[in-house]
Amino acid sequence: MTTTKPGLALYLHIPFCTAKCGYCDFNSYEGLGHMVPDYTPALIREIELWAPAAQSFQVNTVFFGGGTPSLTSLEDLEAITNAVRANYDVAPDAEWTLEANPSELLQPHLEGMRHLGINRLSIGIQSLHDDELKLLDRLHDSTRALEAIESARNAGFDNMNLDFIFGLIGQPIERWQETLERAIALRPEHLSCYALTVEPGTALYYQVAKGMLPEPDQDVVADQYEWTRDRLAEAGYEHYELSNWALPDHACKHNLVYWHAEPYIGMGAGAHSFFAGQRFANIDAPNKYVDAVNATYEERQATGRATMQQIKSGESPDDVTMRADAMILGLRLMEGVSAAEFRDRFGVSIKDAYGPAVQRHIGYGLLEWADDRLRLTTRGQLLSNSVFVDILPDYELADTEA
Ligand code: SF4
Repeated sequence: MTTTKPGLALYLHIPFCTAKCGYCDFNSYEGLGHMVPDYTPALIREIELWAPAAQSFQVNTVFFGGGTPSLTSLEDLEAITNAVRANYDVAPDAEWTLEANPSELLQPHLEGMRHLGINRLSIGIQSLHDDELKLLDRLHDSTRALEAIESARNAGFDNMNLDFIFGLIGQPIERWQETLERAIALRPEHLSCYALTVEPGTALYYQVAKGMLPEPDQDVVADQYEWTRDRLAEAGYEHYELSNWALPDHACKHNLVYWHAEPYIGMGAGAHSFFAGQRFANIDAPNKYVDAVNATYEERQATGRATMQQIKSGESPDDVTMRADAMILGLRLMEGVSAAEFRDRFGVSIKDAYGPAVQRHIGYGLLEWADDRLRLTTRGQLLSNSVFVDILPDYELADTEA
């Protein structure tokens, strides 16, 4: 049955990890496993608290991200998925993705997840060389990674993403090529290949800052990216976003919501949302998040009002920011941004909003028009950040540089 309701995506954050990887700047924590018995009920309460605001939407995608959602027990996962189904109008063919680490992916757990309706797995493989996995502080080795993929197939997962990182410090292109060739041979439906970034605040950042490790060589990174693009095209994968490739009809529906700047509600510690014209984020620290949700929940019990304002920090972006968001997110997609859709949505043309910046980057060979769509050129895909900073509103650029 078709629906006329607008679509909505739900993101559910599980912030726990067995160990913190040195390069990771996600809102994830090791050693907090004792918090799970408080966290899961709080997440379920937040799912319930948001439900009244989402009644006029149909949920097309649900994404368990982390952290390590595959650490979640089947009992907790069942309680969470039941809460989503009981409180939201979830499309019968909704995409339910769960991010997983190979270490936990054993057959009974996988079969249980599939049984609960998880129909897409995103597995953080990162490399198929054991020395590189050690360098990244990953707990699995390549043998465990391959076993996990096989077990997932046996459990019935026919829609899988494998995450990889290239541009590792000191990684010759041949080693990345070996990893990707082995990945292609497995025929995952989707591949995410990200260049290693040295994020401030991570252990890796301090090692590089103190000179214990060199920075990734950006020329090698560019060569690896270009080779990846060519090789995956040859292998039948569509390059649909800067770092994402899929077999036909297997693009990640959930992430497309972000890139199309469509509404989503993020729940859980530190989760971000874009909903009802507002952008906001939950408190990062899991214990403070749990306290805030419980206080809100208790207030609703007492007053009958759902006031999720208590746990979010946020803003109502103005038109200039909204259209910059739509441009930057849309340009990450290989299809680019439609001039007609942009004008319909924002009441101003791309040329009027960004004429000089667009012309400048067309001149540099980084942007091009393809009929009605503005998109990055193949060279622009390598230098996308220099295009994006020209599109950001001035005050956000100042924030970025601070
Ligand atoms: S497992 Fe993933 S989320 Fe957890 S610390 Fe490592 S990279 Fe970060």
